[in-house]
Amino acid sequence: MPALTLDTQLTYLKGAGPAVAQRLAGLGLRRVGDLLFHLPLRYEDRRAFRAIGGLRAGEDALVRGRIVAAEVKLARRRMLLVVLEDETGSMTLRFFHFNDSQRRGLAVGRWMQAYGSARVGLSGVEMVHPQYRVTDDAEALAPEATLTPVYPTATGVTQVRLRGMIDQALAVAAEDPALGSELPDLGAPTTMDALCLIHRPSADADARLLLEGRHPAQQRLVREELLAHQLGMRLLRSRLKSRPARVLNAAADAAAELQAALPFRCTGAQRRVLDEVAADLVRTQPMLRLVQGDVGSGKTVIAASALLAAQRSGLQAALVAPTELLAEQHFRTLSVWLGSLEVETAYLSGRLKKSERAAIAGRVAGDEPLVVIGTHAVFQAQIEFSRLAMVVVDEQHRFGVQQRLALRDKGGRYAPHQLVMSATPIPRTLAQTVYADLDVSVIDELPPGRTPVTTVVLSNERRADVLRRIGEACAAGRQVYWVCTLIEESEELDAEAAEATATRLRAELPGLRVGLVHGRMKATDKDLQMRAFKDGDTQLLVATTVIEVGVDVPNASIMIIENAERLGLSQLHQLRGRVGRGAQASQCVLLYQAPLGDAARARLETMRSTNDGFAIAQRDLELRGPGELLGRRQTGEIGMKLADPLRDAAAVPQLQRLADRWLETRPDLARTLIARWIGDPERYAQV
Ligand code: ADP
Ligand code: MG
Repeated sequence: MPALTLDTQLTYLKGAGPAVAQRLAGLGLRRVGDLLFHLPLRYEDRRAFRAIGGLRAGEDALVRGRIVAAEVKLARRRMLLVVLEDETGSMTLRFFHFNDSQRRGLAVGRWMQAYGSARVGLSGVEMVHPQYRVTDDAEALAPEATLTPVYPTATGVTQVRLRGMIDQALAVAAEDPALGSELPDLGAPTTMDALCLIHRPSADADARLLLEGRHPAQQRLVREELLAHQLGMRLLRSRLKSRPARVLNAAADAAAELQAALPFRCTGAQRRVLDEVAADLVRTQPMLRLVQGDVGSGKTVIAASALLAAQRSGLQAALVAPTELLAEQHFRTLSVWLGSLEVETAYLSGRLKKSERAAIAGRVAGDEPLVVIGTHAVFQAQIEFSRLAMVVVDEQHRFGVQQRLALRDKGGRYAPHQLVMSATPIPRTLAQTVYADLDVSVIDELPPGRTPVTTVVLSNERRADVLRRIGEACAAGRQVYWVCTLIEESEELDAEAAEATATRLRAELPGLRVGLVHGRMKATDKDLQMRAFKDGDTQLLVATTVIEVGVDVPNASIMIIENAERLGLSQLHQLRGRVGRGAQASQCVLLYQAPLGDAARARLETMRSTNDGFAIAQRDLELRGPGELLGRRQTGEIGMKLADPLRDAAAVPQLQRLADRWLETRPDLARTLIARWIGDPERYAQV
């Protein structure tokens, strides 16, 4: 057996056979060192026996007493009831699963200690399935000296087994000089001391601080983790910038030319962001800019200007959208705007015929300064741009670091400029951590003439009233979206549900022209439906959440969202952004199925009380935590173990400065820290 190091595979540890290792691999635990940074989720306090007579419902407690009764009851379910008594009172322990030897062990007269959650049952205070020990010798029972850590684990791997493995990892780590020495600027304690305290809190450690996550040892590691993240993102950024970019001298002129051609005057915020982008484009390093703007703030203008800047410089540009529907809509808008300036646009979708796709591939392989718009099909292997200088990515929250890196290599010797657009407003405190590799521009102003959307929250029982209002509104020339929310993670079932809803609404509102659009329709059919709605041929459009991103029909001024309680805040806000785009007053009706849970109620109330995307994002973050707000992909990417980008935001600016300094003066330490917290330092930079 090899000497254990932090790099050794887990299987070499005692208690970790191949089956256990495989399960733990699902948690990202593969090497001994990974266990060190697998930190407790919480702690259990078993440091003192609690008086049975003083237990309150809902509290977790360790108790000790004598068994005064034990019997198997055959009520509705077979169960073992044990009555435990100490000097202050007695309580019932209830077991639904037990074997014969367990039953025999729990005999009257023996001593027992039990840890569990107290609740109030029919016969007074009780615990269901407590963890316990029995003995004949009362002296053998003792509370723990320290807090008991509870780890995230995989099914089939018990806390006891995991704790045993972590103990071994800590022993190996004690030999590692890097972990045992203080890091400059981060101060005491050392990483190793902090880890030991968090994994195995000493008897005199401040338990309250630990339980609240505010112990100096925890804060020391939080700072280390945030620093590691900043370092990693900086490294990524320098990778992204390592290849030179083409200078787009036409950028400022292009912005002016576009503005002159638009059918409206740009807002101050749009003009500011146009300037920020134009300034980036005359540098020899590629632009890496995120444009954040609430739904309807007019981000497409910024995209158009960036595309035009490349084209006017004699180079190629591409815009990538996450869905066909959105890509098609961008294509339509941009071919009008850019078309009026005699710039040609091509649409590249995964659904094109081979020959059509080959034709476009041929053109971009040549030197033609084309603007290509499409889904991610734009970047499939067969498509080689000869002079790609600009990539605009819409709806950034579906687009991660790896993709950004992949884009870097699409421009050949030069890296294309990257502009990513997101309608998921992320609070600044979070953006500084999540988008540490990007410059951020914010469009914080809506075009004039918009009236805010009024939102009402109604129970399904009010459906008849809602239908009546729809009938009246349509008679008055207005148009209505009816959104069916996801039932399953299945486009198929969604489509069926949407079809059923459309059929029902056609029957309930016989005078209305009802359209239907869902994710399972052919692109051409979807297009027809959207067009019919846009042209006013249909009055009510039943849709799945495919209309979430970007769809623009200014005359639609009412939106009904069915089962709104199922959706998250960001998604609701995105959907609602589809109305309120014209001059008339708009309404959004959030229908829910009672009874509402607390979280759902809080979400709907937030929607009712504000239209401000940033306020909603902030609330979303509080209600759900950052991972969910950003979507699964980015949770994985941030992968914070201890730090909470929101709670710990105040520490970030200082750590950003520190990260810059370390990269200059201590690149060795920077790599160590990245390896420690993020894993392979190349992970950020691997394509
Ligand atoms: P976003 O992508 O930010 O949600 P869009 O770019 O789709 O918003 O713009 C929403 C609508 O507002 C579009 O119909 C667009 O043409 C229009 N628009 C954009 N900027 C302005 C402006 N400055 N004045 C008036 N209308 C605008
Ligand atoms: Mg948009």
